[in-house]
Amino acid sequence: MGTDAETMPKPPQGGLNIAPYKTDVDPIWCPGCGDFGVLTCIYRMLATKQIRPEETVVVSGIGCSSRLPAYVNAYGFHTVHGRVLPVATGVKTANPKLEVIAVGGDGDAYSIGAGHIPHAARRNIDVCYIVMDNEVYGLTKGQGSATAPVEMVKGTTPFGQLDDPLNPIAVAVAYDISFVARGYSGKPKELTDLIIQGVEHKGFALIEVLSPCTTFHDIYKPTSQRIRFVDSSHDPFDRIAAMKLAFEKETIPLGVIYKSQRSSFDERIEETKKRAQIKGAGDLNKVLDVFQ
Ligand code: SF4
Ligand code: MG
Repeated sequence: MGTDAETMPKPPQGGLNIAPYKTDVDPIWCPGCGDFGVLTCIYRMLATKQIRPEETVVVSGIGCSSRLPAYVNAYGFHTVHGRVLPVATGVKTANPKLEVIAVGGDGDAYSIGAGHIPHAARRNIDVCYIVMDNEVYGLTKGQGSATAPVEMVKGTTPFGQLDDPLNPIAVAVAYDISFVARGYSGKPKELTDLIIQGVEHKGFALIEVLSPCTTFHDIYKPTSQRIRFVDSSHDPFDRIAAMKLAFEKETIPLGVIYKSQRSSFDERIEETKKRAQIKGAGDLNKVLDVFQ
């Protein structure tokens, strides 16, 4: 922490300088873990946009991927399981000038933390949430998660999963999350571009990232064989078309799946303060100052 505008190194000519965004903590992920690729894409987004470390907060839950804030030179908050979004909402609401990036895994996002997603969507919090989905709980040795396919055989489920997998893109579109995208850690250039778009989006952005677990569920090969990038014929503002992509079976569509435009939570708070003042409730900022 503590890099200011003057000391912030500029990108060298012809390439991005991601060094200012790294910490001296070495990632302890297994070799080949997809989360390495996602981390690099986050560095590249920060370097591309020249976001200063002191203006950035990375919030995570619990799990292998939730170690990520330790590896980014920024403010970080490693919260408890499934509570990424409430904390990210609080940080952004307290200081809307901060760039708040939420990160975590599929277990964190779509199981224990799943109840927070519709409310983050309703509030349209201006936070970019990057979910590293590997279909397992890697940190606890590879049990099937909410996105695990039924045929997945693991130590705790030797005859396959009992539950059907959740479709995160369909859920995100149904909840009307205002920016929904899917990327792949094996396609870092395209994933960096999606993260840049998600951060630039004013409102809640959910980026579902296929991020294979090389130790417990290595699906790089089948994933690489099935992915396809959506082309310009897809209109992300068309919700029905987005839902069709969510249910596509033959391939895994990557790119911006769905977008909608409406005011964000911090903008609504400011609008509400003004409306209250007009209606004679006084200056809400002064009322809130009492609690600071
Ligand atoms: Fe990555 Fe899986 Fe290793 Fe966890 S167990 S660090 S998810 S490869
Ligand atoms: Mg997982």
